[in-house]
Order: sequence, then structure tokens, then C-alpha cells
Amino acid sequence: MKTETYKLGIVEDKELRFAVIVSKFNGKFVYGRHKKRETWEIPGGHREVNENIALTAERELKEETGAVKFNIEPVCDYSVKREGQVQDYGRVYYANIEELGELPNFEIEEIKLFDYIPEKLTYPEIQPILLKYVMKYKIEKLISNFKLRRIYAQYFENLDEVKKEIERLIPENASIGIGHSATLQKMGITKTFIDKGNIVYDKELAKDKKECKEIKKKALIADWYITGSNAVSVDGRIINVDHSGNRVAAITFGPDKVIIVVGINKIVDTWQEGIKRVKNIACPLNAERAGFNPPCVTLKKCVDCSSIERVCNSLSIIEGQSLESRIKVFIVNESLGF
Ligand code: SF4
Repeated sequence: MKTETYKLGIVEDKELRFAVIVSKFNGKFVYGRHKKRETWEIPGGHREVNENIALTAERELKEETGAVKFNIEPVCDYSVKREGQVQDYGRVYYANIEELGELPNFEIEEIKLFDYIPEKLTYPEIQPILLKYVMKYKIEKLISNFKLRRIYAQYFENLDEVKKEIERLIPENASIGIGHSATLQKMGITKTFIDKGNIVYDKELAKDKKECKEIKKKALIADWYITGSNAVSVDGRIINVDHSGNRVAAITFGPDKVIIVVGINKIVDTWQEGIKRVKNIACPLNAERAGFNPPCVTLKKCVDCSSIERVCNSLSIIEGQSLESRIKVFIVNESLGF
């Protein structure tokens, strides 16, 4: 089987027989499980006779997810060629679902939200290719919107590539502050730079609370600061929450150079969705990891608590910067962190 993608305008409308809709809701990808299958699939289906392909996409999205309110846009066309069969063509859409209603009683038994690509896919030779195309399209938009705000953003296929680039950028004698991030821990970035002889301020190395606080303060005036982000939006914003505020402070001002590493699961369309993602997805998971117990840990959603255990005391939205490229955002084609 061979799957190919095409920019819009190359494939003739009359060839298009399917619509596939890569969909997000609350910052996660929406997949459906067909009543006759145990695997997951991106919403989509056949075009009816004389139906406008855009209407096919809207109809299938409603039928297969229960979407009530959404924004939808065409992204590309695709073809699938199976051995001994004619080439089939379809159009790929991206939909941002704002409101989900009840799932209509058609072919889909249930829907589920995933960070990126689930293991059990119905069409493993087709749908990952389409999803990655859509995300690259989104990332290109994000990079150009960041550029307008003087923030540099770059795409990487995997964490190894990012790590090599960070090692290339940071000189031997530079001091480095580390903002706590599951992504950076996965990269082993602290050990890498300690082994190279850099001074690294990482609170994870502290023996006690007093030293932890000192390290956080020193990180604020390091030459470089490396951290993750809770969300980045296609409209060009970086959204973070913090318990004590050290990480959002360092991103905003202090270190002359800041590198933010984010996985593809952190990309949302707008800053408003970024806040929703941060409060309803990142906070409960981060709170649990850090041993705090605000209400969102149990409820799995934010209730704007005033708990002493609140992990989102500071909320930061970076909308631009005066110093060109002080902040660099490295986007990785993997689902990383919370
Ligand atoms: S305000 Fe409270 S409930 Fe909401 S995300 Fe923050 S810690 Fe959780």
C-alpha cells in the first residue's frame, strides 16, 4: 500500500471520494472506535453522491464525534494505492472542536482523546502520514506567527536532534539554569552539561529545601535557561503556569538566552485553548507528580481552587519579546511531558 499527500489544488474535485478530519478537543486529538472494531481511527468517511466535499467533512465530523461547535479547514489531499486496486483520493481537514454533544448512533461506538497517535490504529499505513502532514502544516503557521513576535521557533523530528542542537548552541563556559520539565529529564540534559564542565543550576540536584531555593535563584541569572512549556499556540504564544514562579520568571527576564523544548502534544490553536490545556491537562498531572493534591488531581479538571496545594499560582502568556530570538522554541515531533 502507498499513501501520498498533495497540496490543495492538485487533485481534481471529482476524484475526491473521502474526507478525513484530524480533530482536536481540549488540546487532545479525537479518535473514534468503530462498532465492529477494537482499534482507533481519525474521524472521516465516504463522500455521498453530488455532495460538496466540505459538507462531507462537516457531516462526518458530526456523525463520528458528536461535534456541535467547531472550526474546520481543508489542509491537503491524499491518495491511497492498494495492490491490484485503483488509486483512491480524499481530502484531509483539520477541525478544532469547541463543543461536543452526544455521539450519534451511527458507526462509531465511542470516542477517546489521545495526546498524539494511539498504538492500536485501524489504518496504520495511512492515518499517521495524514496526521503528521496536518501537524507540520500547523507548525509552519506557528513558526511564522512566532517570527512576527520576534520569537525563534524550529521543528525537529526527535529529541536526539534537539539535544545535539542545544549542545551546539551553548558554549563550554556558559552557566545554565534548568526549569523543571519531564521533557528535559527524558533528554538527560543536566547530566550532559555537567559532564561537559558547565555550571548547571537544576533544583533536582538540591539536597534540601534551602538549597533548592538557592538554586532556583541562581538559575534566574544564568547565561542560558532551558525549560519546557505547558502549551504553545499556533497564534504565537507561550503559555505556562508555575507553583512558585521561578520558571515563568526566568522565561520572562533574566537569562540572556532561553531555550524551550516542547512536544507536539503541547500545540494548541489559540492562547485561550492553551490556558484550558494548562489548567485541565498539565496541572492535574504535574500536581500529582510533585505530590500535591489540589482538587484537579481528583476531578481531572480545574475548579479555580484557592487550595494551599494550588500548583498554578502564576500564569504566564509570552506574547512576544523585544530582544530578537532571546527565546528559542524547539518543537519535537513526539508526544512529550504533560
Ligand atoms: S486552580 Fe486549582 S484546580 Fe485549577 S488547575 Fe490550578 S490547582 Fe488545579
